[in-house]
Amino acid sequence: MAASTGQEYINRINRLQANVWHNGEQVKGKISEHPAFAGVMKSQAALYDLQHEENLKDIMTYVSDTTGMRVGTSFLRPTTKEDLEKRRKMIQVWAKYSHGMMGRSPDYKNTNIMALAASADILAEQGTQFPENLRRFYEFAREKDLSFTHTFISPQVNRSSTHYESDDNIVAARIVDKTPDGIVIKGARLLATQGGITDEIIVSSSGLKMFEEPFAYAFSIPSNTEGLKFICRESFAYDSSTFNHPLGSRFEEMDSVMVFDDVLVPWDRVFVVENVEVANNLYSQSSFKPLVLHQVVSRQIVKAEFILGVAQLLVNSIAIGEYPHVKEKICEIIIALENHKALLLASEMGAKLDKWGTMVPDLAPLSVAVVQFPKVYPRFTEILQLLGASGLVTIPTEADLQSPLKGDLDQYLQAANADAESRIKLFRLAWDISMSAFGSRQTLYERFFFGCPNRLNQALYFEYNRHHLVEDVKKQFGI
Ligand SMILES: Cc1cc2nc3c(=O)[nH]c(=O)nc-3n(C[C@H](O)[C@H](O)[C@H](O)COP(=O)(O)OP(=O)(O)OC[C@H]3O[C@@H](n4cnc5c(N)ncnc54)[C@H](O)[C@@H]3O)c2cc1C
Repeated sequence: MAASTGQEYINRINRLQANVWHNGEQVKGKISEHPAFAGVMKSQAALYDLQHEENLKDIMTYVSDTTGMRVGTSFLRPTTKEDLEKRRKMIQVWAKYSHGMMGRSPDYKNTNIMALAASADILAEQGTQFPENLRRFYEFAREKDLSFTHTFISPQVNRSSTHYESDDNIVAARIVDKTPDGIVIKGARLLATQGGITDEIIVSSSGLKMFEEPFAYAFSIPSNTEGLKFICRESFAYDSSTFNHPLGSRFEEMDSVMVFDDVLVPWDRVFVVENVEVANNLYSQSSFKPLVLHQVVSRQIVKAEFILGVAQLLVNSIAIGEYPHVKEKICEIIIALENHKALLLASEMGAKLDKWGTMVPDLAPLSVAVVQFPKVYPRFTEILQLLGASGLVTIPTEADLQSPLKGDLDQYLQAANADAESRIKLFRLAWDISMSAFGSRQTLYERFFFGCPNRLNQALYFEYNRHHLVEDVKKQFGI
């Protein structure tokens, strides 16, 4: 097998016939043709096709050491700094295609799997867990170029620190049985972006308390596993017009709640079972966080660059560049972008081999970046609103431009430097980033997708090495 093409991805997902529900109806027939999923599946397919472009082949793929075939660089376990650089370039080629709007382009989860498998010894170190399953599964995924979603957290019912869910009122997905064939899962999980349009779903947990064995698991199963259901939210791909919804029509990834009705997970797909310490350590003691954040920050840089481009175009289009506050706002984006770029490069410069031989970027700059972006991204969208002002609601549709109104629109909605159609296209783009349902969900995504921002802050507080600085001050001042 080798890196997938877009058509192979589409055919595989259509064949799966996963149990996906949208707007009160079960999705029947080819999911790639359903209006809620067609746009993003087409975009995802285009990403896979980029792996086969002759001029990108060396960045997007590498030769598998088991089959000799070219497989996706998103699966590459880095062992040198050059590998990290190659990974960054690959991630940014894919991110450029969606302007960073596809948080769940396949490289995100492929990096997850690679990072977990590269640290699989953690499972061997601590009790009877399943490192071989994890390693074998990584190779299987890499050779077949499978696509993934994942779900890490339980439904948002009661987040109080003292909450304990009783056995007779199951909400959060838990292990309810173990049989010779596998483990049985019942309950729900929140949430899976791209749920139902990927080959597989990875389900795992971390941050568990001592007594939560039934919730301590990690596994991957095909999206069409019996008993598995994806309950989607309303689609934000309102129509397929790229004029009306330049981003939403193509990159609306969909989010879904996952319900497990006594789902049997075969033993060969189980990585962790009923071991709270291992379930937690799989994420906290492995090189998962720095490797995944390297992907995340690489994508976010492309997104910030895109927004800077859009913001500057807004400024030019209505000729507001002479005003000092406008320059300051553009500089705010520049500063955040350059900070992000510097942090990513610092993480690569400070990369070191971990104890399993993987080249791991320095976590500290990446942790700073992932605390910073949830703060600056909402500000980016605010800046677009502050610069665009009423222009963000004077955005006629494609149909308006094709109607008898065209003459009026051409005259009254022209830009200082362009015709009305170009100006409307630009303002619709800025609206789709900063105001549409698609755009608002993007902001929520950047705030929360890697976990609650407060907890990311706390992690930085605990993880950042400053002991030597404290000792220096104590020594210098005799404290
Ligand atoms: C658009 C989007 C896509 C996502 N996609 C995925 C996905 O594909 N897969 C996946 O697994 N997850 C996904 N997530 C979920 C994401 O991981 C969570 O949103 C994040 O972990 C926060 O959890 P929560 O949403 O349950 O918020 P909660 O934990 O319920 O937080 C709600 C509020 O309560 C506060 N709070 C709760 N508990 C505490 C505490 N202990 N201490 C202090 N404050 C607390 C939080 O700070 C927050 O203000 C996605 C989220 C979004 C918004």
